[in-house]
Amino acid sequence: MHTPRLCHPGTSRYPIPLSLREISPDPGFQPEHRIFAPDLATLTHPMFPAMTHALPWLHPDRAEKLETALDSRILLLDGAMGTMLQRHGLDESGYRGERFAHGCDAHHEHEHDASCTRDLKGNNDLLSLSRPEIIRDIHAAYLDAGADLVETNTFNATRASQSDYRMEDLVHELNVEGARLARAACAAAEKRDPARPRFAVGVLGPTSRTASISPDVNDPGFRNIDFQQLVDNYTEAVDGLIEGGADILMIETVFDTLNAKAALYAIDAEFRRRGGRLPLMVSGTITDRSGRTLSGQTPEAFHISLAHARPMSIGLNCALGAEELRPHVQALAAHADCRISTHPNAGLPNAFGEYEETPEHMARTLESFAAEGLLDIVGGCCGTTPEHIETIATAVRGHAPRAMRKDDAA
Ligand SMILES: [Zn+2]
Ligand SMILES: [Zn+2]
Repeated sequence: MHTPRLCHPGTSRYPIPLSLREISPDPGFQPEHRIFAPDLATLTHPMFPAMTHALPWLHPDRAEKLETALDSRILLLDGAMGTMLQRHGLDESGYRGERFAHGCDAHHEHEHDASCTRDLKGNNDLLSLSRPEIIRDIHAAYLDAGADLVETNTFNATRASQSDYRMEDLVHELNVEGARLARAACAAAEKRDPARPRFAVGVLGPTSRTASISPDVNDPGFRNIDFQQLVDNYTEAVDGLIEGGADILMIETVFDTLNAKAALYAIDAEFRRRGGRLPLMVSGTITDRSGRTLSGQTPEAFHISLAHARPMSIGLNCALGAEELRPHVQALAAHADCRISTHPNAGLPNAFGEYEETPEHMARTLESFAAEGLLDIVGGCCGTTPEHIETIATAVRGHAPRAMRKDDAA
């Protein structure tokens, strides 16, 4: 049995509190303060009947295969779902499929009203229900290209994001089916090549709202979502992803650390409820060249804020292309004590919002990351395709994962 590599193993620097509320007795107590304070893994109070980090894996055989694979080579994450969907050029009826042909859900009896004819074009997550064959084919294309990990089509499968389409009631089903499709694609690939395990990564997106920043420049105190609403959003999503068979959970494209903390809080509660856990990946987004997230953190601060969750990996994705991301991945790798992931965009978008970095160029850059010992998991974000993943896979093949180098050095 492999011992999982954890961020900051060891004992807590905090005294063990008798109850959560005693940690922060001030009247301004906010639920999110709970996850700042104690190292929950060291608590033995009856309030914590199951320590999240002491819980067994929900899928022990898959978790062990994952650890073994990570110890032996750099694993490939897939590329963009959206870029592949664009190739299909789906129109409104293409998005609706049969089930949503009239704009509303034919599977649920209801009184039709004006909202039943809303536009669904652009709701990529809905395709898991309306056009599952397309999503299945995209997963298969990435697995054929050499991806070890495929991300579920659930980036916007939260109430906050689905409210744009008034499809909040589908959130649970979107997550279950999203995970099921990715897991089934992995199972099919494993059947063809049993020596090589593949993993379905249950994706939790950032939502379109920020808990720590006002969307109104004239009203800095205003928020369009709060911590508890985000916890509720993520609880529903996590429940669906686990039910659908996700092997890993990934909080992705984190631009606001407080949103990510809400996701971690929901995950923690869900693991306790189920009496088991899944490996966790956290991936942040640097939103400009100053090297900070939207909520203002450097990569080091980002790691410190989230290390209590002991993720299997921490990393960066999206926003900048690989080359621009290098110093920030270096900073993270120098700081973090868990595995490192990166899945950059195919360069910076041009004036038309298109990503132009070729597979060869991106692979050359990422190979130099690998040669430097920065990577355990690598893939692509916006603009990347199976051609990118295949070329990156070939480029990094000869390089050892970062985790093994650290062991060698010790
Ligand atoms: Zn209707
Ligand atoms: Zn992206």
